[in-house]
Amino acid sequence: MDYRILGKTGLKVSVVGFGGIPLNNVPMNDAVKLVNRALDLGVNFFDTARCYGQSEEKMGEALKSRRNECYIATKSLERTKKDIIKELDTSLRNLKTDYIDLYQIHDLRKPEDYSTVMSPGGALEAVLDAKKEGKIKHIGVSSHQPTLIVQAVRTGYFETVQIPYNIIDFELFQDVLPVANGLNMGIIIMKPFSGGLFKDASKALRFVLSHPITTVIPGMASVNELEENVKVCENASVLTEAELEQLKKEADRLGKDFCRRCGYCLPCPQGIDIPTVFRYERYFDSYYQEAWAREQYEWLPIKADECIECGKCESKCPYELHIKEKLKSAHKKLI
Ligand code: SF4
Ligand code: SF4
Repeated sequence: MDYRILGKTGLKVSVVGFGGIPLNNVPMNDAVKLVNRALDLGVNFFDTARCYGQSEEKMGEALKSRRNECYIATKSLERTKKDIIKELDTSLRNLKTDYIDLYQIHDLRKPEDYSTVMSPGGALEAVLDAKKEGKIKHIGVSSHQPTLIVQAVRTGYFETVQIPYNIIDFELFQDVLPVANGLNMGIIIMKPFSGGLFKDASKALRFVLSHPITTVIPGMASVNELEENVKVCENASVLTEAELEQLKKEADRLGKDFCRRCGYCLPCPQGIDIPTVFRYERYFDSYYQEAWAREQYEWLPIKADECIECGKCESKCPYELHIKEKLKSAHKKLI
């Protein structure tokens, strides 16, 4: 296994880490075996989140007896100090540990999120305190929104940044890499397969690893997937021109007709959280998480069928998505 230094955290992490989303759907015994197999193969960076269902609990169970062999990263969607403190304590309990190596403010989506997090009484204040207390070793940030993430990175508060990066979306995030590298931040790549769309794991992972990033964390639900990903990343040669062409063709075939969660379409006058609806649809379609996606959708206070078809969102979407139609289809699946 190759290892790289995770920016200013100084942690030496495997070039392929373990993305914890799919653990939610893996039975506990299998999850424990899978995570242990990852450790045996040299994977030492494990990423999960409070919002990934039972993922933290399963990861905690698997890692509790091998805590000193790994780095655990988790994250929270809470934006205020009081709410994120509760989340952190829950994560520590779930993960069966008294410290988290990397705690990330998760999925900054809207400018309001960002200003709440960074303001007095915001989530950042809480995680800085938790770092002083030793509950957190390092602080990171994640987002699918290119402009906000560059803003967050530039503050200098965060030691790592987690972004989606793949052949379809890399242009969106091309400004993030030089800024983050210039500040010596660790760069963690999620969604190397663009949410499960790419079937050729080898080319997709090698594409990501050919960029100046630290670790790529594909979601893994089986030992086969794990072993395949590790094998690719251990011997990750640069893509040949012909392979890059094949990957681009695959990207063209898949098209670009899906939500990147940039949030430009918001606010919706009806209050529909458009990117979140599409996010749950993606989980439903690509991560074998139908039940979880429906459950999360159930919690959304305003469902997609509240759309009055005003069209305001479509005029702001840089990908020219037919949001109104897509919302109808997502609602049918998720209700
Ligand atoms: S078309 Fe529907 S989803 Fe889009 S802004 Fe109008 S009400 Fe909201
Ligand atoms: S629907 Fe379009 S504008 Fe809205 S989050 Fe998705 S990609 Fe961005």
